[in-house]
Amino acid sequence: MALKILKLSEEAINKIAAGEVVENPASIVKELVENSLDAGAVRIEITIEGGGIVLIRVEDDGSGMNGEDALLSVERHATSKIRTAEDLESLETMGFRGEALAAISAVSRFELKTNDGTGGTSIQIEGGRIISVKPCARNRGTTIEMRSLFFNTPARKKFLKSPAANTALITRTVETLALAHPEVAFSFVSQGGVILQTVPEEWKQRVEKIIGKMPLEIASGPIRGLVSLPEEAKSHRRGQYLFINRRPIFSPVIARAVKMGYGTRLAENSHPGFALFLDISPQEVDVNVHPQKKEVRFSDEKAIFHLFQKAVSRAFGEEMESFSSTLSFTPPAPFSFAENSPPMFSQNFKAIPLVFDLPISERPLAVIDHFLLLQREGFFLIDLQAAHARVLFETLGRKKTGTQMLLQPLEVFVENEEIVEELTGLGIDCRWIGKSTLAIDALPTWLEASGFESFLAAWQKGKKREAASVNYCRSLKKKYTLDEAISLWQELQNCEECQLDPNLKPIWIKIEKQHLQSLFT
Ligand code: ADP
Ligand code: MG
Repeated sequence: MALKILKLSEEAINKIAAGEVVENPASIVKELVENSLDAGAVRIEITIEGGGIVLIRVEDDGSGMNGEDALLSVERHATSKIRTAEDLESLETMGFRGEALAAISAVSRFELKTNDGTGGTSIQIEGGRIISVKPCARNRGTTIEMRSLFFNTPARKKFLKSPAANTALITRTVETLALAHPEVAFSFVSQGGVILQTVPEEWKQRVEKIIGKMPLEIASGPIRGLVSLPEEAKSHRRGQYLFINRRPIFSPVIARAVKMGYGTRLAENSHPGFALFLDISPQEVDVNVHPQKKEVRFSDEKAIFHLFQKAVSRAFGEEMESFSSTLSFTPPAPFSFAENSPPMFSQNFKAIPLVFDLPISERPLAVIDHFLLLQREGFFLIDLQAAHARVLFETLGRKKTGTQMLLQPLEVFVENEEIVEELTGLGIDCRWIGKSTLAIDALPTWLEASGFESFLAAWQKGKKREAASVNYCRSLKKKYTLDEAISLWQELQNCEECQLDPNLKPIWIKIEKQHLQSLFT
């Protein structure tokens, strides 16, 4: 039976669109605080309960809104920040899509209280329906209170992480925003306990307050910031904060450039801490790519790479080596398609890896060999082998994984003697039983006995952990089931790095609808 086509109600559209703006409580906090910043607030108070699922309240002393604007503000695509598409070229505010308030109020019990100096207005909305609009008493500024997140979309509620995990995500979000806006006093309270409280201060003091002391200062053209000593580098990237025109951005390209700036001072697989601020003309970056705005494109990525590398090496009192060697080095370019992609793609097809936690609620569309296809404002193609290699690699890096005795030792042939030490380092129990022959008695739990030989072959071929995990995963599986794909995708969310495989190739790419369309013209 064919169904009649009906236009969706505004309410339904908002509920669907909410999925794109409102990923989790942390993304709501981000949107609300950014609105307060856009409104020129100098004091912002954030209060949460139950990891933001029970309550998120953001109170500011910004410009506030009059009654008419307050009503408009909760409608979709209502924004005071741009007027025409051209305004996107010179964006100076955080928000611009006019979607956040509509989306948040569509999936919660929502209250807005605001006063622009001409009198206060209070608007109550439940699941997208306006319940009441009335005058209220309030000083100039705006308070937004959101309760019972996803109360009307139980399926989405199920996919929320635990309150503790959400509190951690919100804390990181608030800290990041506070780093970018040292002139603003922030207060952040969770379950009645003060987590962060700052006064307006200099950026360096703010960085120290939030991240801790980092002794190396960078001041080089449009870049300023602090970086950690090489010996304080970590095995993860949580200590890395980058801001472009005050927007928090994670850019693997810039993270690489910073690392290169340390030269040979860093141990392998270690990541220096940094808080770096880049201020460039809005024309040189494009932020209108992702609703969460964590992604940017640079018009000249190579130049940006060199700029960061140079700025960091200068902090060590060094000029970069000769210019020609700088030029001959090509920065890793995860923003462009791999060289071996079909020619029609490499010409005008821009594939962009993104950074954000993709909730599992995203609908998987299909698994094609070792690719998973997801839909989300266009399509995502995830290379499952690369994802698998990333997951494996991070397991390899962790010291304590359990081992499992084998019922029958495996006998394997090895090419060189040093490998015993390397294998032992990975938690593999082995002993010599002949020239070039090893008996394997126990394997770490992540490695199955049936896959050991191909793992060993990959290890001997790749020598390094990175190469070995990638090679191993390529040899292990050519096809994945949908269930395997989803569970890999889930595991990837827990990885420190979920964008690049251990060889620093992108794990996923985004294919935008208009690009796809342009291939057919
Ligand atoms: P956007 O920020 O993309 O414009 P939002 O849905 O986040 O869209 O907000 C819609 C509009 O509501 C904003 O353009 C702004 O005019 C107004 N607004 C939202 N929050 C505040 C606030 N805290 N103070 C003053 N105005 C606000
Ligand atoms: Mg906004």
